[in-house]
Amino acid sequence: MNEIILLKLGEVVLKGLNRRSFEDRLNANLRRRLQHYGSFHVYSKQSAVYVEPQNGACDMDGAFEACRQVFGIIAATRARACPKDKDAVFHCAQNYLDEALRSARTFKVETKRADKHFPMNSMEISQYVGGLLHDAYPHLKVDVHKPELCVHVEIREKAAYVHGPSQPGAGGLPIGMGGTAVSLLSGGIDSPVSSYMIAKRGVQLELVHFYSPPYTSPQALEKVVQLARELTPWCGRMKLHIVPFTEIQEAIRRDCPEDHFTLIMRRFMMRLAERVARRTGAKALVTGESLGQVASQTMDALAVSDRVCTLPVLRPVIGMDKTEIVAISRRIGTFNTSILPYEDCCTVFTPRHPKTHPHLDEVVEFEKVLDMEGLIQRAMEAVERRTISMDE
Ligand code: ATP
Ligand code: MG
Repeated sequence: MNEIILLKLGEVVLKGLNRRSFEDRLNANLRRRLQHYGSFHVYSKQSAVYVEPQNGACDMDGAFEACRQVFGIIAATRARACPKDKDAVFHCAQNYLDEALRSARTFKVETKRADKHFPMNSMEISQYVGGLLHDAYPHLKVDVHKPELCVHVEIREKAAYVHGPSQPGAGGLPIGMGGTAVSLLSGGIDSPVSSYMIAKRGVQLELVHFYSPPYTSPQALEKVVQLARELTPWCGRMKLHIVPFTEIQEAIRRDCPEDHFTLIMRRFMMRLAERVARRTGAKALVTGESLGQVASQTMDALAVSDRVCTLPVLRPVIGMDKTEIVAISRRIGTFNTSILPYEDCCTVFTPRHPKTHPHLDEVVEFEKVLDMEGLIQRAMEAVERRTISMDE
């Protein structure tokens, strides 16, 4: 009844002349996300987005949590609308926030007046409504600095709104505004986090996964599909490109020195990911590499794998410790799937003593024995594409 969701825009408000297109994109993303929770009217006004349920069948709890996961939003609150009248605002606050007003010990009223035609200023409205609430709840003390409960009143164009504290939103920029990137998704902890971090900056992701049957099992692949699905509340609908990697790995094992297996394999991953990027119009690659975490993530090794691609390689977790990556992974909901004990193609054929400081000329020499173009072409021809969405 009269309850709406009010969302606060994040960095979108700094976009100057482009702001309109950011807002349009954000609202379109919100509408798509809200389809699952009923029929809502979504529109923006004065640096807020209004999400209004169109009937009583809407799932407000579900919608609220969904909005908090949409990039571009920094805060969300549920609010009750009422007529723009000082007494109506008081009654609305009393009804809507009764429970919170009973249990708090200290409070204050804070008013924002976007409608400058309203006959009282913000201070006067706060004092008036606060005074009546104080009379109605005599146990409450006013504390203007650190109140337990802040009653927010917003006098806007169409109506007045009353709400309690807001919850943090996902931050970032609306997906789609930052173009498209190809993210290399393994079954580990790091790459779901790096995918999330780049999507947060407004980037639509194309996911690539390399698998090596029969060395990697169908469950290992299913785990990656599950991780991709767990990213969709944040990243939206995505394509997962599943690239067969067995022939390549077997060729490397047969023809290249053992201490260079991982490095040469990683160069193949980058080449293939770049081919996917070319097919999809993506403008960067994303990996979950963290400096020094494993042998293939030293500066020398990263430099040698970067040499095979022309697109920028984004590594959002490069400077993070494992514990920091794990904390994000838990927060976004991928951790429990990531730690399921299935093998990844990186963990089969691992050298006993991987090269940590490789030399580019040597690596290039070792690769000469491989049928580079044939291997890449056959893998690309056998790519399987799956659409990962929340409806599945
Ligand atoms: P993660 O926890 O993401 O698996 P990791 O620390 O295990 O990372 P590596 O196995 O060396 O590191 O992989 C480094 C990065 O390469 C991963 O973060 C991911 O972006 C990419 N990658 C590794 N294996 C695969 C794979 N099978 N398919 C797609 N990308 C992969
Ligand atoms: Mg891994």
